[in-house]
Order: sequence, then structure tokens, then C-alpha cells
Amino acid sequence: MSKIIVLMGAPGAGKGTQARLLQERLKLPQISTGDIFRALKDSQTPLAMEVREIMAQGRLVPDELTIRLVKERTSQDDCRNGYILDGFPRTPAQAESLESLATEQGNEIFPVLIDIPTEILEKRMTGRRNCPVCGEIYNVYFKPPKHDNVCDVHTDTQLAHRADDNPETVKARLITYEEQTRPLMNYYRSRGLLRTVDGNRDPEVIYKEIEAIVT
Ligand code: ADP
Repeated sequence: MSKIIVLMGAPGAGKGTQARLLQERLKLPQISTGDIFRALKDSQTPLAMEVREIMAQGRLVPDELTIRLVKERTSQDDCRNGYILDGFPRTPAQAESLESLATEQGNEIFPVLIDIPTEILEKRMTGRRNCPVCGEIYNVYFKPPKHDNVCDVHTDTQLAHRADDNPETVKARLITYEEQTRPLMNYYRSRGLLRTVDGNRDPEVIYKEIEAIVT
């Protein structure tokens, strides 16, 4: 049976960082719904404009669209031996659809919660920067690049700051998380599936723990 590793946690908990490490080392594709929606950034279709507006407000993209995109992506060949979900599911309807998807695909779900005190989340997000070339994630407070605002490896490239990592949107995203996504933890916990790791530690230490849970 192949595994669906589901990384859960508040925005800024470090799901993206861990998803990247898992992808690299376990050779499983990482599927980030946030990245999928951000990829619509430059297109001018009405759908892309609607998604951009929703993201700027820190709200969730409608379930129907989100679920459809995840179904499409996970039915591709590279997902045959399992995959990593980062940012999905975020609502009870998404969790239910993942359940049926897993059954259809013959996969097993491993939800891992990266737990982190709310106080440090805002700084994690407002300080977050990423390299547009390799995707490496930096943080001006916690993991600054060697030189101001450029990637350590791609030194010709200025780091990018996500449009939704501004203080106002960050606050809205945290509220959305509390209201719509946190209840999912109880759902998985009550079924004895949820494993929790302390996210307020070195990424490598957290990685080792997640790896031990999922392999
Ligand atoms: P973070 O986890 O740091 O909030 P993401 O990159 O996962 O960031 O998501 C950014 C935005 O994309 C969210 O605020 C939301 O608008 C949208 N989004 C991502 N995943 C989902 C999802 N599963 N359902 C609905 N909207 C989503």
C-alpha cells in the first residue's frame, strides 16, 4: 500500500520546509495546494483573478475547485508510489474527499501535525522569503541568507516575498486556520491517526521525527 503523507499545521508551521525535505529524500512528489494556486498568479483568466483575490484576503479557495485540482494532480503517474500533501486538506469536506481518493487509489493516509506556538507564527510568515529559482525558504529573523535578500546558491537572484505574507493577510490566515482547519485535527485524532511533532525546533530534527513516523 502506498502512503499519502499529509502535513498539517498552521500557516508558517514549516509544512513547506518539511515537504521539500521529504520529497528530496523519500523521492515522493510534494503537492502543495498553495503552490498550485500561486502558479495561477500571472494568468488573467476570471478564475485566476478570483483565486488571487481570495488568497489576498487570507480566505480559502472553494472546496470544489481545490478538490478537483488535487484529484487531477494525484492521478498523475509520479504519484503511483505515494505522495506528500502540504496544505490539503484544510476543511472537513476536503478531508472526506481525501478519504475516498485514498480508498480509490489504494493508499493509506498518514496525517502529521507540525505543532507550533501561535506567538511565533506571525514572525515566521512576515519574515519568510524564498528563492524564485530553487524554492529554498529563508527567514529574515530565523534563517537569514548569507547576503541581504539574495539566495545563498543563486546569488544573482533577489529573494521573493509572498504577497499573502504581509501582516494584515497573515492575521486573516491565522483566523481562517483556527476556524476551518483546526477542527480537522480532532477528526484525525479521534480516529487514532494523528501524529504530532514539535515544530519549534531545528528543521533537521523535525525531519528525522517525521521520517521515523512515515517510513
Ligand atoms: P500557508 O499554509 O502558509 O497558509 P499555503 O501556501 O499553503 O500557505 O496557502 C496559501 C493560500 O492558498 C491559502 O491562504 C489559501 O487561500 C489557499 N489554499 C491553499 N491550500 C488550500 C486548500 N486546501 N483549500 C483552500 N484554499 C487553499
